[in-house]
Amino acid sequence: MSAYLPNLDRRLASRSHDCEHDHDAAPEVAQDGVDRPRIERAVREILIAIGEDPDREGLQETPMRAAKAWRDLTAGFRDSAQRHLGKQFEHRTTGGHDLVAVRDVEFHSLCEHHLLPFFGRAHVAYLPANDRVCGLSKVARTVDVFARRLQMQERLTSQIADAIVEHLDPLGVAVILEGEHMCMRMRGASKSDSDMLTTSFRGVFENDRNARAEVSALLLGGRRRS
Ligand SMILES: [Zn+2]
Repeated sequence: MSAYLPNLDRRLASRSHDCEHDHDAAPEVAQDGVDRPRIERAVREILIAIGEDPDREGLQETPMRAAKAWRDLTAGFRDSAQRHLGKQFEHRTTGGHDLVAVRDVEFHSLCEHHLLPFFGRAHVAYLPANDRVCGLSKVARTVDVFARRLQMQERLTSQIADAIVEHLDPLGVAVILEGEHMCMRMRGASKSDSDMLTTSFRGVFENDRNARAEVSALLLGGRRRS
């Protein structure tokens, strides 16, 4: 499970869904899904604003590199959970107690308040219904779809849970995220090495306290909090 490496996934979104830039944009914009020349101009402005010389040797290609990085880090805006969770398998369950759990899905995101990274691990479990399951890798892809956007960890957690509810209609979903926020770690007085833990429970895990405790222990148990 831990072999999943989101950094290797640089695929761009399929062009099938709506993107407001598509219609009137220059070819480069349409190809990337973002207005890279505009990002480059903005990054150059930032360099000037902090007192740097954007034309010195080390910085000459920085706006171009930063624009590509921004495109990749926000690729989730141009992707959809449907593309991944839409592919399902039939799995005959007996009595609705066949839990599917994926732990330690690495995620990287950008906090929308500071445009700084936060990252960590997502743990996802669901109780299939209607004999429908998705591939384990699709859960990880779905985490990526929502992580590669400007985010709050709270919203990222609930969006993952809601997407699984929407596409798999399971009996219950539990999502737990452990995140480290660079806007806390790196900035002056608010320095802190604390992690942020967020949870979203749907269906049976929302309504049944024992089921919730059980799935939480399963997702976090054994090796966390070293
Ligand atoms: Zn922040």
